[in-house]
Amino acid sequence: MKKSDNTAVTTVMGGPGMVIGCPICCGDAVRPVRLRCNPAGSMAAEVAIDADGVHVDKTANLCKGGGMVTLDLRCANGHTFMWAFALTHGRTILATVTDPPRCPEKAIWAN
Ligand SMILES: [Zn+2]
Repeated sequence: MKKSDNTAVTTVMGGPGMVIGCPICCGDAVRPVRLRCNPAGSMAAEVAIDADGVHVDKTANLCKGGGMVTLDLRCANGHTFMWAFALTHGRTILATVTDPPRCPEKAIWAN
Protein backbone atom coordinates (compact mmCIF):
# COMPACT_ATOMS: atom_id res chain seq x y z
CA MET A 1 0.00 0.00 0.00
CA LYS A 2 1.10 3.50 -0.70
CA LYS A 3 -0.26 6.32 1.39
CA SER A 4 -0.83 9.17 -1.02
CA ASP A 5 -2.03 11.82 1.46
CA ASN A 6 -3.70 12.03 4.85
CA THR A 7 -6.96 10.47 3.74
CA ALA A 8 -6.39 8.25 0.69
CA VAL A 9 -4.59 4.94 0.46
CA THR A 10 -3.71 3.42 -2.89
CA THR A 11 -3.25 -0.31 -3.27
CA VAL A 12 -1.11 -1.49 -6.14
CA MET A 13 -2.77 -4.54 -7.69
CA GLY A 14 -1.09 -7.35 -9.59
CA GLY A 15 1.73 -8.02 -7.12
CA PRO A 16 2.14 -11.16 -5.08
CA GLY A 17 -0.85 -10.14 -2.97
CA MET A 18 -1.35 -10.10 0.73
CA VAL A 19 -2.64 -12.63 3.21
CA ILE A 20 -5.73 -11.59 5.14
CA GLY A 21 -5.27 -11.81 8.89
CA CYS A 22 -7.99 -12.11 11.49
CA PRO A 23 -8.22 -8.80 13.46
CA ILE A 24 -9.06 -10.76 16.62
CA CYS A 25 -6.50 -13.60 16.78
CA CYS A 26 -4.13 -12.60 13.92
CA GLY A 27 -4.59 -16.05 12.37
CA ASP A 28 -4.10 -16.21 8.63
CA ALA A 29 -6.52 -19.07 7.85
CA VAL A 30 -9.31 -16.69 6.79
CA ARG A 31 -12.05 -17.53 4.29
CA PRO A 32 -14.72 -15.36 2.66
CA VAL A 33 -18.17 -16.58 3.67
CA ARG A 34 -20.46 -13.99 2.10
CA LEU A 35 -20.44 -11.05 -0.28
CA ARG A 36 -23.19 -8.47 0.21
CA CYS A 37 -24.17 -5.44 -1.82
CA ASN A 38 -26.47 -2.63 -0.77
CA PRO A 39 -26.62 -0.52 -3.90
CA ALA A 40 -27.41 3.15 -3.92
CA GLY A 41 -30.43 4.24 -5.90
CA SER A 42 -33.87 2.75 -6.33
CA MET A 43 -33.11 -0.93 -5.65
CA ALA A 44 -34.38 -1.35 -2.09
CA ALA A 45 -32.82 -4.73 -1.35
CA GLU A 46 -29.59 -6.35 -0.27
CA VAL A 47 -28.07 -8.91 -2.63
CA ALA A 48 -25.88 -11.55 -1.00
CA ILE A 49 -23.82 -14.48 -2.26
CA ASP A 50 -22.85 -17.30 0.08
CA ALA A 51 -22.28 -21.06 -0.13
CA ASP A 52 -26.03 -21.60 -0.53
CA GLY A 53 -26.38 -19.31 -3.54
CA VAL A 54 -27.64 -15.83 -4.32
CA HIS A 55 -30.15 -14.16 -1.99
CA VAL A 56 -32.21 -10.97 -2.25
CA ASP A 57 -33.34 -9.53 1.09
CA LYS A 58 -35.79 -6.65 0.96
CA THR A 59 -35.93 -6.49 4.78
CA ALA A 60 -32.18 -5.90 5.33
CA ASN A 61 -30.99 -2.65 6.85
CA LEU A 62 -30.10 -0.63 3.79
CA CYS A 63 -27.44 2.04 3.94
CA LYS A 64 -28.44 5.63 3.49
CA GLY A 65 -26.81 7.76 0.82
CA GLY A 66 -24.15 5.88 -1.12
CA GLY A 67 -23.89 2.16 -1.62
CA MET A 68 -22.14 -0.44 0.50
CA VAL A 69 -20.30 -3.61 -0.47
CA THR A 70 -19.24 -5.95 2.33
CA LEU A 71 -17.10 -9.06 2.33
CA ASP A 72 -17.82 -11.22 5.39
CA LEU A 73 -14.88 -13.32 6.54
CA ARG A 74 -14.40 -16.12 9.06
CA CYS A 75 -11.12 -17.38 10.49
CA ALA A 76 -10.33 -21.00 11.39
CA ASN A 77 -10.85 -20.13 15.06
CA GLY A 78 -14.44 -19.06 14.37
CA HIS A 79 -13.98 -15.30 14.59
CA THR A 80 -16.02 -13.27 12.14
CA PHE A 81 -15.35 -9.88 10.68
CA MET A 82 -16.13 -7.96 7.54
CA TRP A 83 -14.49 -5.55 5.20
CA ALA A 84 -17.01 -2.85 4.44
CA PHE A 85 -16.53 -0.70 1.34
CA ALA A 86 -18.73 2.40 1.76
CA LEU A 87 -19.26 4.41 -1.38
CA THR A 88 -19.94 8.04 -0.57
CA HIS A 89 -19.32 11.42 -2.17
CA GLY A 90 -17.21 9.90 -4.95
CA ARG A 91 -14.89 8.07 -2.56
CA THR A 92 -14.68 4.54 -1.23
CA ILE A 93 -14.01 4.12 2.47
CA LEU A 94 -12.78 0.73 3.71
CA ALA A 95 -13.49 -0.29 7.29
CA THR A 96 -12.89 -3.54 9.15
CA VAL A 97 -15.82 -4.40 11.40
CA THR A 98 -15.86 -7.34 13.79
CA ASP A 99 -18.90 -9.53 14.39
CA PRO A 100 -20.98 -9.05 11.22
CA PRO A 101 -24.64 -10.06 11.54
CA ARG A 102 -25.81 -13.62 10.81
CA CYS A 103 -22.39 -14.63 9.50
CA PRO A 104 -22.48 -17.96 7.61
CA GLU A 105 -20.29 -20.91 8.62
CA LYS A 106 -19.25 -22.15 5.18
CA ALA A 107 -16.86 -20.50 2.74
CA ILE A 108 -18.47 -19.09 -0.40
CA TRP A 109 -17.00 -21.89 -2.52
CA ALA A 110 -17.92 -24.74 -0.12
CA ASN A 111 -20.06 -27.61 -1.48
ZN1 LIG B 1 -9.51 -15.29 14.50
